[in-house]
Parts: sequence; structure tokens; C-alpha cells
Amino acid sequence: MTAADPVFRRLRLSGLAATVAVLAVACGTPTSAPPAGTATTATAEAERTSTTAPVDLQAMRVDEQTAVKAVDTFWRTHFAEEFGKEYQSPRVEGGYVGANGPQCGGEPSVPFNAFYCGPGDFLAWDEQLMEAGYSQIGDAWIYLIIAHEWGHAIQARLNRDQVSVQAELQADCLAGAALQGAANDGVIKIEPGDSEELAQTLAAVADDYPWTNESDHGNAQERTSAFSTGVQGGVSACA
Ligand SMILES: [Zn+2]
Repeated sequence: MTAADPVFRRLRLSGLAATVAVLAVACGTPTSAPPAGTATTATAEAERTSTTAPVDLQAMRVDEQTAVKAVDTFWRTHFAEEFGKEYQSPRVEGGYVGANGPQCGGEPSVPFNAFYCGPGDFLAWDEQLMEAGYSQIGDAWIYLIIAHEWGHAIQARLNRDQVSVQAELQADCLAGAALQGAANDGVIKIEPGDSEELAQTLAAVADDYPWTNESDHGNAQERTSAFSTGVQGGVSACA
């Protein structure tokens, strides 16, 4: 993949696929996210601390900013034509560490999480979560987490009957639509053949991450399918 703009870094969709499975632990509203200190969080922490690869934090920050710009640009360009109303960007609170993030509805931030806060209409993420995926999988991790959480912000802008009861899978679908759409618009570029890699990589990674919460987010196959639906069918396929 090559970037259409030198500002935009290369985005590997094969890495993106791997991210889908792991994102189950990453995403959630503050009310549905696993509380700190649970076995789930402890496992994630153990995985994180076992990482030895150094993370280029400056490069990671650039990817975060690039992902925000790419996804926001996509929705700013296409939201009105898709849904017939004006688009307003959610706020991006950006990275926090542990429980020192922005509160949502009076609830403290959850360590090792990323979330969209409806009451505050903002996105936020724990930089430790970003670092873990960035070092173990790559920059696509950043893009998918941000695109997925942005999908929840989009859901908050829709009529209730446009939001799927399977909200997490719909957010995966909207993430696929936004990232593919950004590629179609020449903002980022994705190589052909990556859809097949998506399914293969996701299946392998799902086995490697036992803390994936299938009841909340769907299993690896369901999430891959939802993401691919957005990639192939665009926003309208997700609604
Ligand atoms: Zn989600």
C-alpha cells in the first residue's frame, strides 16, 4: 500500500484484520467495558507487559492523528449523502493512561480501553492499549480502533431504527466502510487481495487472544464478516 499523501502513512489491511479480533477487549462503553482488576484486564495487562518490542511513540502519535483525520474526513464528505443530515464531528479527547482519562457520564475511564462517550460526544483511548497493538500487530491497529469507535459516534447521530441491535458488529461494518471509503477517496491506499488475508489473519489471531469477549462483540468470523461487509458494500450496507 502506498499513501496518496506523504502525510498519510502506509496502512496494512492484513494487520487491520488481526486487529478486529483483539478489538473486542478494546472497545466498549464505560458501562460494558470490563472493570479494572478483572481476570480479563489482568490477562490483557500480562500480554502487554510481555511485549519487548520498543514502540516508536512519536510515529504512533502520527498514526493516531492520521487515522482521526482520515476517518473524520470520510464522514465529513459522505455522511450527508448517506443519511440526509448534516455531519458534526465528535470531539477527540485522544490518549489517556489508566484511570486518568476523561470521565463519561460520571464514570472514570477504564484502563486498557478505548471508547466513545455518548453523553460527552467524544472518543478517547488508553495509550497503553494503542502501544500494545502497535508493537504486536502494527499501525493498522490504530486505524481500526479509531474507525470502530468513530462508528459508535456515527450510530449516535442516526435515528434509532438505523442502529443495529448488534451495535458492535455495525461499528465494525462502519469502520470497514470508512477505511475503504478513505482509500477510495485517495486519502489512504489499500492493496487488492487484502480481504482474503483479513479472514485468515483474524482466525489465527482469535485463537491467540482468549480474552476476546464474543458475547459482547461477536466472534472472530462475525466481526470479519461485518468489517468486510462495510469494505465491500459501503455505508449503506451497514445501515
Ligand atoms: Zn464498539
